[in-house]
Amino acid sequence: MMTKSAMVLLILLPSILFVSAQELRNPAASQTPLAGQAASSGSLRQIVPAHYVYSTTNAGRVFSSGVVVTSDGALVVDALDSEAIARAERESISSIIKQPVRYLVSSSFHDPFSKGNIAYADVFKIGHENYRAGLLDQMVRGGASAEEQRARLPNETFRDRVTFYFGGKEIQVLYFGRAHTQGDSIVFVPQDRIAYLSEVFFSEEFPNMAQGYGVSWLRVLDAVMALEADIFVPGHGPIPEDPRRTRAGLQRMRQILIDARDAIQNEIARGATEDQAAAAVKLQQYEKLPTYTAQREVTVRRMYKELTGNIP
Ligand SMILES: [Zn+2]
Repeated sequence: MMTKSAMVLLILLPSILFVSAQELRNPAASQTPLAGQAASSGSLRQIVPAHYVYSTTNAGRVFSSGVVVTSDGALVVDALDSEAIARAERESISSIIKQPVRYLVSSSFHDPFSKGNIAYADVFKIGHENYRAGLLDQMVRGGASAEEQRARLPNETFRDRVTFYFGGKEIQVLYFGRAHTQGDSIVFVPQDRIAYLSEVFFSEEFPNMAQGYGVSWLRVLDAVMALEADIFVPGHGPIPEDPRRTRAGLQRMRQILIDARDAIQNEIARGATEDQAAAAVKLQQYEKLPTYTAQREVTVRRMYKELTGNIP
């Protein structure tokens, strides 16, 4: 009989090793939840009729995948962090929604949103062409097997938009430019006035800019907020009891990027170097937000490079 602590160690060890190796290979994976607390399942919540969110909580942070339901099957937005989580989400969908999953739309290629693609081998997968390129590059650099690469890559890519018509619904998959990555998709269902934003929307969190484009991200948010939608589903962070309050949350996130951009622009106008700007732009009004400590400097340096034309 194994002692309880030995069992806990055996359970935790693989995820500790996995996350450490992943962080070494890919610094952007630092948004991966802390080792040892990795979620293996979450909960499915109906946002409005025919629209659900499957959310997991890791180290106090919420990660969400969207589910659009039609009479002809479901479309999932983002497979989340692991095969186990993705299987748990699919089990929830089949037991509660009772519709087969027909499509998986992936927005961010980052592991916390795309590792679970492995559990969607039987489902038609779609993503932006830059999503595919980013995912492939990340998997090759991370030493993913050919089998994993096949299982995770999309079956179809697009450049500007792709529109589905099934089960009586129009579902638009839109690309508005670079934001959290080079290939973030927005899933918009006009008749239900709801948009799924994946990692384009960090709700009540300081955004992650490790591979982001903050200035372009602002233009993307402007395009998103011009959609005729009332509900904006975040990939990160809490979703208010009244989902219509997400518009105000999106506005608050947009303000973080505006404040960062303006403060960096001021530093550039004064002749500050990147190091000087990184030291000067504190954005202290946001210091209580989760991930502020980890992301403030990353954001300033990344946006400084973008504003001075030093990101290809
Ligand atoms: Zn990400």
